[in-house]
Amino acid sequence: MKIKKILLATLLSFACGTSITIAAENAGVLLQQGLKAYKEKKFKEANQLFAKAAILNPRDASLQYYASLSAFQAGDSKTGRAALSRLFLSQTSHSPYMNPALELKQRYGVSAHSYYALKNGMHTIWSRRQMPLKIYISNGLALPDAYRGKNLNVQQLSELQDWLRKPGAVQSLKQCPGYQSGFASQVKSGLGEWSWAMQERILTFQYVNNPIDANILVFWSPSFPQPSQAGQTLYMVRNTESRPVIIELRTDFSPYSSAVAGQSIRNAAAHEFGHAIGIQCHSPSGKDLMANWQYWSEGASYHITENDKETLRALYSVTPTQTF
Ligand SMILES: [Zn+2]
Repeated sequence: MKIKKILLATLLSFACGTSITIAAENAGVLLQQGLKAYKEKKFKEANQLFAKAAILNPRDASLQYYASLSAFQAGDSKTGRAALSRLFLSQTSHSPYMNPALELKQRYGVSAHSYYALKNGMHTIWSRRQMPLKIYISNGLALPDAYRGKNLNVQQLSELQDWLRKPGAVQSLKQCPGYQSGFASQVKSGLGEWSWAMQERILTFQYVNNPIDANILVFWSPSFPQPSQAGQTLYMVRNTESRPVIIELRTDFSPYSSAVAGQSIRNAAAHEFGHAIGIQCHSPSGKDLMANWQYWSEGASYHITENDKETLRALYSVTPTQTF
């Protein structure tokens, strides 16, 4: 039976781990209690024990798997789906829990769930104390030539972030070639795709005119390293604390019309904002807003999906590795 196999794998992973923390040990005790309750068919009780263990160790696939399984068995599909999303959030396709999780999804008819969203295994979200997130959308400004539209290394990004914090720095930037006056409002329209997250109190954001203490800054670039790339998001993968996130959006859409350009900017802004708030990977499903932009057609309209929503919910529902 699959459960037994997974149980063995879990026990081995606890026994063989070289960096077992106190949290993991406590999670291990709760896991054993949960498995005992599960075997006695006390599914609700088992779910509570697995869920407690998963709070201590949220990126442990076994804990999220059992929390999900026991919730579904107890008839609580909402809780089951949330735990399943937390599992998919932190597990790549190589995870031994991927197939059992997909089997759970199938068995309980889960239509939407999260996708893998961590960068190098780092789970990074905005801290509560930064809310509401302050978003500065520049009216057509481009970063200095040395940084504009480029892939930056850690040192370059760190220099740029420090520089942007200096009084007058942003004001000294030049207008980006190809920028049209309606583009900034397309950005706001695109970010509106995420307003449901405010209603659900996952995060809050507001627009600011002062770039100095903004959390997320939006600039413009005529082009990017890859042709047809519509935007990029620059953030630290480590040492993220109090560092701003920078979004750059493309201005040159020739030979397309202004209407196509506007729609493309809206799509790109909505997508890049997803990266800026912590979804640091692409969805494997081409229909999702956070799918790789190479799936997109210029000028078509893209919107947030239930998979994207589940991913953000899962991301902000547990203690992260670090915060912005
Ligand atoms: Zn992307």
